[in-house]
Amino acid sequence: MAMETSTQEANSITAPAAPLSSEPSGLTPAIEVGRPAPQEQQQLEPLKGPLTKVYAFWLAGMSCDGCTVAVAGATSPPVEALLAGTLPGLPQVILSHPVLSVEAGEDFMRAYHMAWEGKLDAPYVIIYEGSIADESLAAETGGYWSAMGSSAIGGEGDPFEDKLVSTAEWAKRLAPGAAAAIAIGTCATWGGIPAAYGNVTGSMSLMDFLGRDYRSALGLPVINIPGCSPVGDNFTETVAVVLMFLQGLGPLPEFDELGRPAWLFNETVHRRCVRAGYYEEGTFAKHYGDKECLVEIGCWGPVVQCNITSRGAINHMGGCMNTGGICIGCTMPGFPDKFSPFYKTPPGTIISGTASRIVGSFIRPLRRISQRDRNRERQWDKAGSVASGWGHVAEPSVGDRFVHFFYDKLQFLGGTKPGARRRPEDREREERAERSKQMKQ
Ligand code: SF4
Repeated sequence: MAMETSTQEANSITAPAAPLSSEPSGLTPAIEVGRPAPQEQQQLEPLKGPLTKVYAFWLAGMSCDGCTVAVAGATSPPVEALLAGTLPGLPQVILSHPVLSVEAGEDFMRAYHMAWEGKLDAPYVIIYEGSIADESLAAETGGYWSAMGSSAIGGEGDPFEDKLVSTAEWAKRLAPGAAAAIAIGTCATWGGIPAAYGNVTGSMSLMDFLGRDYRSALGLPVINIPGCSPVGDNFTETVAVVLMFLQGLGPLPEFDELGRPAWLFNETVHRRCVRAGYYEEGTFAKHYGDKECLVEIGCWGPVVQCNITSRGAINHMGGCMNTGGICIGCTMPGFPDKFSPFYKTPPGTIISGTASRIVGSFIRPLRRISQRDRNRERQWDKAGSVASGWGHVAEPSVGDRFVHFFYDKLQFLGGTKPGARRRPEDREREERAERSKQMKQ
């Protein structure tokens, strides 16, 4: 789905047209909070001219903090450049983050409250890491799954001062007024490991929590950047291009039907895998550490939408198959249940792997013949030997020469082989083409 919100629309942000459903899909309401929700979300002033700053509120639910670590390692662009506002034309991002912020306690929570109460002097976005648990389940025993701050900030005598506020509740408070709601990591985008079969937390994704009708203040559904952990660059790059859109410097980038940045997730990991050539030639690893394609020891790359092999894990380095690991589908909504048991050959390989093996058994020997020929200078062919002191280079066999006689014919059909005299008919044809070109001019 290409989002078609125009820049003009971006420049007239108003309260959300479609506020949160009171009963988001599949959600048992989060723990009760001590303060009534504001009657109206913040009425954002229309954006006048370029923004100088944007607030970002990070919320962590059922998370391992791996997404935070991944984003801290991003390099293209680096998160520091977003925070310092040094990317040309982009506003400074003022981040409130439960792990990275230096403030603590009420000082830290104040900005969240200001956003909720509509008192910020610039637009804000929310970023949710980790899945959202059903807080009512924990509340049955007087506990909670994930919470941040209490409602005590209301001041002395607040009857709810001891009430912890779940991060789910914070998402519900802040999402409608946010310019964008971004889910980072597979837990927040699809549910991930906390939502796997047998989980006791009732965990779900931000998208499922907010419901189908959710739209941000700019009219955007939840933006999803999956991965366990995600590629940090995927997050910072998406934030940067969304900010460019907010600045009127570019169109809103294309997101797919699940809210993934399409330019980052519309290819399978297999298509850009460093081992894809082995797959194509039908040679497969039998053990970890082998250099060939890993599909027969459990790689799901051919069906998984991810850019880890081309983008790398950090600073364009690392990444699952680049470093010998199989793809277990961690960016996909079906992860982990639909990709288990890990390390078992995916059933689809019976067909595709067998086809590659059959085709590869013809292709590989033919390629080896061409490869041997292309490894030789023409002068060496003429001399009939290779002047290498490193080892003996075998001369082409009769079979090789035979194959290459026809190969060359095909290669230079309609063209001119370097060093060959042009045939009169070719010369004539070229002259005719040149004349007709000149006449047209
Ligand atoms: Fe495809 Fe996985 Fe093999 Fe890479 S290792 S070529 S992603 S099947």
